[in-house]
Amino acid sequence: MIALNQLLRPHILSLTPYSSARDEYTGSVGIFLDANENPFGSASGSGNYSRYPDPHQGAIKQRLAGIKGVRPGQIFLGNGSDEPIDLLVRATCRPGQDSILIMPPTYGMYEVSAGINDVNVIKVPLTPDFQVDTDRVLAAITENTKLIWLCSPNNPSGNRLQDQAIHTILEAADQSLVIVDEAYIDFSDAPSWTTQLDRYPNLVVLQTFSKAWGLAALRLGMCFASEELIHVLNKIKPPYNISAPTQTLALEALDHETDKNEFVQRILAERTWLTNALQTLPSVRLIHPSDANFLLVQFDDAPGTFTHLIDQQVIVRDRSKVVLCEGCLRITVGTRAENEQLMHVLRHKDAPVASADLPLGTGEEAQRPEAVSNA
Ligand SMILES: *Cc1c(COP(=O)(O)O)cnc(C)c1O
Repeated sequence: MIALNQLLRPHILSLTPYSSARDEYTGSVGIFLDANENPFGSASGSGNYSRYPDPHQGAIKQRLAGIKGVRPGQIFLGNGSDEPIDLLVRATCRPGQDSILIMPPTYGMYEVSAGINDVNVIKVPLTPDFQVDTDRVLAAITENTKLIWLCSPNNPSGNRLQDQAIHTILEAADQSLVIVDEAYIDFSDAPSWTTQLDRYPNLVVLQTFSKAWGLAALRLGMCFASEELIHVLNKIKPPYNISAPTQTLALEALDHETDKNEFVQRILAERTWLTNALQTLPSVRLIHPSDANFLLVQFDDAPGTFTHLIDQQVIVRDRSKVVLCEGCLRITVGTRAENEQLMHVLRHKDAPVASADLPLGTGEEAQRPEAVSNA
């Protein structure tokens, strides 16, 4: 059993949260003169947003609980996954004293959140095949290590982490929170770690609406954990952290889970297509196996390829300076037209003369007006 009074920062344990107007009266009928809202409407041109949203997102949690097979009280929703990542650090880590443990190469936000909060970061790199170095991880944990971050499927390598390693860490580090970030779980055929929540009170699972659900612009992240821990996150979150439009659209999306599943199937088919296409390029040295919606690809000249792609307005992520990703670019799987365009530009770099005659801009236009991603 994890001791929350050891895990949490003492002042968080004793904190009295802000009580919002909509905490103190939760009915939906009546004349609402309690929250200093505008009774006439919104200066937005269209739509009415004059009322504060449900601070606890009850409708989404009810619906999500059924879909995910958890209890509503085991769900926290955040303004992106960024919010639970930050709240977990702030709830548990005393600045200048406590630490988190990460396994590079991995998602950058864990370290950034620790940095913002002046919290030490212990780094135990993954093995060269991007698996957990379990003995080293266990040896690196101290009594001040509050959070252990695992990302599976991992960003930027794309692979799942072995179940056994995660079980071992969950059992050994029973006074730390072990967080499994499953941002890419929909693209993998493995079951979610949410099935293990009742077995491990120190387990936290993160998922997101930003990838398979196609709702990155809404900023909505899911965090699943014990009811006790979710209660703490609710105490320290900004009262109305999920906007009303986001709640409405997320609830709608949950009625269209089959659309999400169809997107996943299309992306997986494109991932196979892109893998096969990349394999034909002489400049491609290695395509790492992927359980996600992107490929980590090693090129003969990654920085040169990256610049060449940018020149042709194809934007990928340069990971060539990242530990264990030397020479690699991370490429998100696009539509067929986008993937063909990517291949066209890459072929042109490998053999400028041979493919120079091929027309650019085959097929449908890219669907995104701005191809910008900070993930
Ligand atoms: C994209 C991504 C997320 C999602 O972040 P949001 O803030 O929910 O958009 C979380 N974790 C990892 C590893 C990711 O790659």
